[in-house]
Amino acid sequence: SKTSDKLSEFLESGVYRLEDSNAVFIDPVRVLNRSYTRFRVSPSAYYSRSFDSKHAGQEARVSSNFRKRKRKEKKPQPLNDRERAADQRHQEVRPFLLKAHESLVRATELLEVVSNLKGNLGPSTSSPGAEQSLVELGRVWQAPLYEITLNFHPNDNAREDGGALTIQYCEQRAFPVFNNLVVNETSEDVEAELLNSRYILPPESSFYMSDLGQIHNLIPAETDCGFNLIVIDPPWENGSARQKQRYSTLPNRYFLSLPVKQICHTDGALVALWVTNREKLRGFVEKELFPAWGVKYVATFFWLKVKADGSLISDLDLFHHRPYECLLLGLVHGKVTDSKQLSSTKPILPDNQIMLSMPGDYSRKPPIAGLLHEYAPRLQRGRCIELFAREMTAGWISWGNEPLHFQESKNFMKT
Ligand code: SAM
Repeated sequence: SKTSDKLSEFLESGVYRLEDSNAVFIDPVRVLNRSYTRFRVSPSAYYSRSFDSKHAGQEARVSSNFRKRKRKEKKPQPLNDRERAADQRHQEVRPFLLKAHESLVRATELLEVVSNLKGNLGPSTSSPGAEQSLVELGRVWQAPLYEITLNFHPNDNAREDGGALTIQYCEQRAFPVFNNLVVNETSEDVEAELLNSRYILPPESSFYMSDLGQIHNLIPAETDCGFNLIVIDPPWENGSARQKQRYSTLPNRYFLSLPVKQICHTDGALVALWVTNREKLRGFVEKELFPAWGVKYVATFFWLKVKADGSLISDLDLFHHRPYECLLLGLVHGKVTDSKQLSSTKPILPDNQIMLSMPGDYSRKPPIAGLLHEYAPRLQRGRCIELFAREMTAGWISWGNEPLHFQESKNFMKT
């Protein structure tokens, strides 16, 4: 039947297009697995946050605080100007979000699968805190001396038809791990070693691990070597990131000097920027940041976070704890100010697209590379970059001070 075709497509791709709305449901584990050849992302590691009882307790505390606050407040406080603007923004998108969520609730065949995405997995194998802090390692004086060793298996294909007698050998190559572009140019996953940790690098992926101070090294020598698709998830300042101390944050003015304009392809680029729901930040992006980068705002996508039972992670109307985050999309137009080029890229970027998924680790965004590929003008391989990345994607360059974070082998299973 038609519906089970849709479901089998989801089981294959990790993306389910919901009926009657601008929404897709994403299973990040399935989407990520399309990147890998010899390894699989472990669902219990991806969803480790929901296995972590300490974190579950925190969530409960947050909501009971909220109830307390609500009870105390007898009269509703009048909203100030900024809160009113934020509320208006929320009211505008609310019908789209509700409709998307209703479509998910109606997709019963999908929900049945979703309820099991992180079920029956047993206890989480990951031990938070035990992982290597790449950020700290990059700060010590020995940082320039640290090398990562890539284990290539050049005879993998030969082995398949060569039978049991083929000797399996492995070619090892070492590269400086910091301030250096480390590339897996092969079409296979590669295992890598750094000190006592192992990492899995997807096919045709690269990382450049450095502090913001070295980001200018990404500026291509030739302008037609720039990027067509740029995803940015900056460490914005906000109460929760500082409280939980998962990573250090930076004041907004630091992002004004990101060389977005300089790393764009001469044909132009699609820029996708994750933002928090703080109204002050939205104003900054619209009035200062996008203009400084030469980006023209085009559309907003929303990531609506749901639980395994399909319900929203928090009430849609909770003022300081929205169950969604925003992805602002903009275009940097190419040097050729060709009106045909503009009109051919504009209409395919619809507004108010909604992506629903269950959240993984703290601040980890769902994998949207595939969805954005559909919208990016003239995409070529090797022309995609993620800034402030914590993981790698096949065909992409990941830059940040910890782009190997989620590549640690404990997050993977061997197929
Ligand atoms: N998109 C990522 C994901 O889905 O997991 C999350 C990115 S997180 C919001 C921001 C990242 O910026 C963190 O990994 C943080 O360590 C990194 N960062 C913070 N300060 C930095 C700096 N000065 N230079 C480079 N990266 C930095």
